[in-house]
Amino acid sequence: MTGASRYDFVVIGAGSAGCAVAAGLAEREAGSVLVIEAGPSDRTPLVKMPFGLVWLMGSKHRDWRFTSTPQANLNGRQLNIPRGRMLGGSGSINSMVWFRGRADDFDHWSVPGWDWADVEPAFEEVEARLTPDRLATPHPVTEALSTMFRANDPLQSPSPERESAGVFRYNMRGGRRWSAADAFLRPAMARGIEVVTGRQVARIALAGDRARTVHFTDGGSVEATRGIVLSSGSFGSTEILLNSGIGPAGDLRAAGRDVVLDREEVGANLHDHPGAGIHYQGSGSGYGLDLSLAHRWAAAPLRWLVQGKGIFASPTVEGGAFFTADGGDGPPDIQSHFIPFLIGWQGERYIRGRGYFADATLCRPKSRGRLKLGKAGIEIDFGLFNDPSDLDTLTKGWLRLRALMEATDFGPMKAREAFPSAAVTTEDEARSYIRDRCGTAYHPVGTLRMGTDGGAPVTPRLKFRGVEGLWVADASIMPAVTSANTNAPSMMIGHRAGRMIAADA
Ligand SMILES: Cc1cc2nc3c(=O)[nH]c(=O)nc-3n(C[C@H](O)[C@H](O)[C@H](O)COP(=O)(O)OP(=O)(O)OC[C@H]3O[C@@H](n4cnc5c(N)ncnc54)[C@H](O)[C@@H]3O)c2cc1C
Repeated sequence: MTGASRYDFVVIGAGSAGCAVAAGLAEREAGSVLVIEAGPSDRTPLVKMPFGLVWLMGSKHRDWRFTSTPQANLNGRQLNIPRGRMLGGSGSINSMVWFRGRADDFDHWSVPGWDWADVEPAFEEVEARLTPDRLATPHPVTEALSTMFRANDPLQSPSPERESAGVFRYNMRGGRRWSAADAFLRPAMARGIEVVTGRQVARIALAGDRARTVHFTDGGSVEATRGIVLSSGSFGSTEILLNSGIGPAGDLRAAGRDVVLDREEVGANLHDHPGAGIHYQGSGSGYGLDLSLAHRWAAAPLRWLVQGKGIFASPTVEGGAFFTADGGDGPPDIQSHFIPFLIGWQGERYIRGRGYFADATLCRPKSRGRLKLGKAGIEIDFGLFNDPSDLDTLTKGWLRLRALMEATDFGPMKAREAFPSAAVTTEDEARSYIRDRCGTAYHPVGTLRMGTDGGAPVTPRLKFRGVEGLWVADASIMPAVTSANTNAPSMMIGHRAGRMIAADA
């Protein structure tokens, strides 16, 4: 940061979407741009090394480490919610699984300008920079997943469009993470945009009906003469608006804030993909802490450094499947993520032995929650299973996953189900197991949904309704979550936003 106090544009948040917004503004020479990121840089080997996310998740400096409110339909459990806090955002801490979503996800948004035909070219452009590809060196047990369905082509990566299983695609290059910070932000810095790290935005202030000043939590401020872009993610962007007095008047007053603009839907429509897993243990199976693998763990750092291969090149999730919960031949409503590692199921961080893990997550949850301001910061209520049909579908999908895993030809690498095993056999038992164990896939969206109706906080051109010079560009604007992982859609949103804002500002 040059120390200037005034820029044409200020982008708040250098995550998956924010990096793409900044690049879009820079490439169109839209004016001076400052990108503000609360967290540090992404320059640590743990970010580049795919397996590094095991240590990044829960880290004090690079994970926001949110916790949900007690979830009424999960026996009051609170969920841990990691979010990346550094250049690249959650895209610097994620598993790099690459999915656009299903084509009709976008058609179902019913937002003019956001149909599949509108967004597909933007995905193509994003993919020209991120170059996603099938994981180069999956564990053989992940390769075996492709035997889950008879009609499956083992060389084709699974797709949410059809029943399929196998190795997923990743935004990695040479066994290393290649994030939005690499593909968008650094080239934009070379074009002259400025980036400041380690400074958290508290709120924005309006001058009349125009967003003008960005206030930091450390007391400083900076002015934006043409526009402010909120790209702080579904939680961050919403929190900044609420802290600025923009949100539901009743909630703001209850939290002791002055009301600047009464907007009921700020923070509403929060949702994520709920999911629950099955743990498998077997001595000749996947990775794990086992004496038979000691030599491979010992060689892992050097092997990754020199060849970009080995255990440390594994992004943990290596593949998975899409299928229908009821076994019908409609479009998939369940996604499974497969991790070729033995993962503890009693809260322990390290467990001895080898094995693998698979989960079932709901592609299109109907339940909605809300993000609010509480006395001690934001309160994140996912409202999981508020719509009971979500639990019905997930229960069926989880039971089908178990049957499919049993039928998959893992050969001598097959492991036995270690948890929940015989304790859960009936549909009722599976239902209560899911209530006890279910989490989310770390894909929160929707808190600032875009739409044409007056209630939608954001317009189809990503402008915040009722405030001039204010845009939102991140996962929060999705009216409904896509049917698979959300990183590529978030970048697509950022990429389109840069173009829209440069044209409309
Ligand atoms: C552990 C994990 C694993 C995941 N795995 C996958 C996966 O494999 N594939 C996939 O497609 N998706 C995955 N996701 C989801 C995906 O990464 C996100 O959907 C995507 O990154 C969201 O992009 P975004 O731009 O909306 O937000 P983010 O990328 O989270 O960016 C928001 C940025 O804003 C910054 N910020 C927030 N508040 C402030 C503030 N007040 N001031 C300044 N800066 C602020 C944050 O630090 C962050 O850098 C995963 C997410 C997590 C957390």
